[in-house]
Amino acid sequence: MRYTIALTPGDGIGPEVVSATVPILETAAEIGGFDIELNEYDIGAAHYLETGEVMTDETLEALRGHDAILLGGVGLPEVDNAFVAAEGHHRIRRELDLWNNLRPAYLFDESVCPLKGYGRGDIDILWFRENSEGEYIDAGGRLERGGGTEMAMQCSVYTRKGIERIARAAFEAATEREEIVHNITKSNVLSYGPTFWDEVVEAVATEYPNVTLESLYVDAANLSIVTQPERYDVVVGPNLFSDILTDATAGVVGGLGLAPSANLNPDEDVPGMFEPVHGTAPDIAGEGIANPLATVLSGALLFEDLDERAAADAVRAAVESQLRDESSPRTPDLGGSATTDDVAADLNERLREAN
Ligand code: NAD
Repeated sequence: MRYTIALTPGDGIGPEVVSATVPILETAAEIGGFDIELNEYDIGAAHYLETGEVMTDETLEALRGHDAILLGGVGLPEVDNAFVAAEGHHRIRRELDLWNNLRPAYLFDESVCPLKGYGRGDIDILWFRENSEGEYIDAGGRLERGGGTEMAMQCSVYTRKGIERIARAAFEAATEREEIVHNITKSNVLSYGPTFWDEVVEAVATEYPNVTLESLYVDAANLSIVTQPERYDVVVGPNLFSDILTDATAGVVGGLGLAPSANLNPDEDVPGMFEPVHGTAPDIAGEGIANPLATVLSGALLFEDLDERAAADAVRAAVESQLRDESSPRTPDLGGSATTDDVAADLNERLREAN
């Protein structure tokens, strides 16, 4: 079997973490007994500064023809972030309709957990973020710019189709896990979109009598993710709330350097896009100290989506073995002084030794 994987390293630490991940993907493919063809494409803020375009139409079409996309991240302080996102990774999500944003948070070892008393596997959250609508549709307007009556409107859109498909994905996953789904909105205050969201999620829940549905408000959830993360197993939520709260779920399992994600459309023959939850970290870009593990773990999600479970499991096992070994190299975000390349090289060695 041969898979084509598009690499879009992007800006800031993106190229650093993607290039550190490539040899690990190659080793995992060898272990899994399949071939990968890697093709690199320029997208992002630096590309915009050079060419006037964040991503060309030709690049988007080329991405569509691959089996999977691995993204580093896009955005630089000198270019409008909302513009770069809309023309960059959000455009890929939008045009391929990658409506299911999976954001798992798994605690590999107590040494990376900022909370007391939590060990390996005690936190294991699978978050289903609605990825195609809500607050992230690009609709709204600015009126009376610069005047005393200046105003802005930001619209959000919730559709039955959009809510049903993400809710079903969460409930399906819950049947294979702890048979509980936490639904997180703010329907006590936002009385149109989130109220509709809750109604549709409750209707979908009736199709899954073995799965318990618990709904809670985003502010309460924000607190309990930090104080009782073990309460959560499968979670579903709208776009913006989920984007925010999954930085908190990342935080309790070791931080953004360990948080992977997948953007999927299981209904259509389009590639999934896999990316770390973090951004381009301009504050450390170029120093060679970014943690590559979030991108590596995104590679594991990529292999899983291609049904190459042995490769996915091997990558995760290598990450776990590294994080559980006190003498292993760690980047500064995990309290160490190792470089991105030290961590990747150690991981690759573990991958080879174990298989
Ligand atoms: P960020 O995730 O880039 O950084 C937040 C903090 O986490 C920083 O202190 C950074 O150094 C640290 N950090 C992030 N990833 C790390 C890693 N792998 N290893 C070690 N430390 C890490 O978020 P931000 O500062 O809000 O955004 C920076 C830029 O990234 C902006 O241009 C933003 O628009 C963009 N961004 C892009 C994406 C994407 O492309 N998917 C996502 C989020 C933010």
